[in-house]
Amino acid sequence: MKQKKAPKKAAAAKGRHRSPNRTDRKARTAASDLLLGAHISIAGGTHEAPARAKAIGATAMQIFTKLAQRWAERSCADDECIDFRRALAETKVRATVAHDSYLINLASPDPTLRRRSIESFVAELARCEALGLQYLVSHPGNYIDERESGIQRNADAISEALERVPGKTVLCMELTSGSGTAIGSSFEELAALIARVSPTVRERMGVCVDTCHAYSAGYDLVNDYDGVWRHFADVVGMERLRVLHLNDSKTPFGSRRDRHELIGEGSLGPAPFRRIMTDERLVDIPKLIETPKLDDATRTDSRMLARLRRYAAGSATRT
Ligand SMILES: [Zn+2]
Ligand SMILES: [Zn+2]
Repeated sequence: MKQKKAPKKAAAAKGRHRSPNRTDRKARTAASDLLLGAHISIAGGTHEAPARAKAIGATAMQIFTKLAQRWAERSCADDECIDFRRALAETKVRATVAHDSYLINLASPDPTLRRRSIESFVAELARCEALGLQYLVSHPGNYIDERESGIQRNADAISEALERVPGKTVLCMELTSGSGTAIGSSFEELAALIARVSPTVRERMGVCVDTCHAYSAGYDLVNDYDGVWRHFADVVGMERLRVLHLNDSKTPFGSRRDRHELIGEGSLGPAPFRRIMTDERLVDIPKLIETPKLDDATRTDSRMLARLRRYAAGSATRT
């Protein structure tokens, strides 16, 4: 383990007034309290991910629990779970998230594909429980034929999966950018999906808002930041918001496309990210980047997280 250097600014820190009140939300936006991280590669096995998260200074981490582009399933053996938890314990990561496979379509009208998707999704949930991951982010399916019946098929499949895999992992339906027949590109549709999930498991449902998807889907986080969240609170409820994906966008507002860009360098620009990083309502929500990693994932992700931490600190010192 690395030895921590004595902080040079100890005297300055001591002199600064620190509120003893733990509920002081302002104080909690300090860099060490942020739940901030990235989507991390599991190359070499899930137990390799925590060290990569540590290398970028992450306090939150998202992983795939298998090869996301393949149907091949796997379960997590005890050894893998022990190794993963041990590696995780050596980091400052306090929020753990899995993202499900892109092949899964729980809303499909094709019974064979839908059944295959449900079995795959059940395996996703089981791996999350085995690894002790707090959240599973899932893209709602594509309805293909008819929107209403697609939402119902999606909700029924979720109910079945959650009933078959009891546990603690919270399933977060991700806001989509609205391309093709994708379900979930509006707050109303996410709310409708959750409302149709069996009440016996609905408590285990949350939502993941992706800033790139939101902007592409027509939620103007740049010019109407407060309005967007007011709308979200009215339709979905802030208590359902459990994960944030922080991505800028390569495409313009309302494009209905899903092309992530580096933070502050796309069509959203720095302003909405500054707001998010200092928004008291979002302090406890894990914030994960899924931005391009360019030719060096560690260096690029570190740079993006440093940028977001600066946004967080910028406002805290202004007040
Ligand atoms: Zn996302
Ligand atoms: Zn995306």
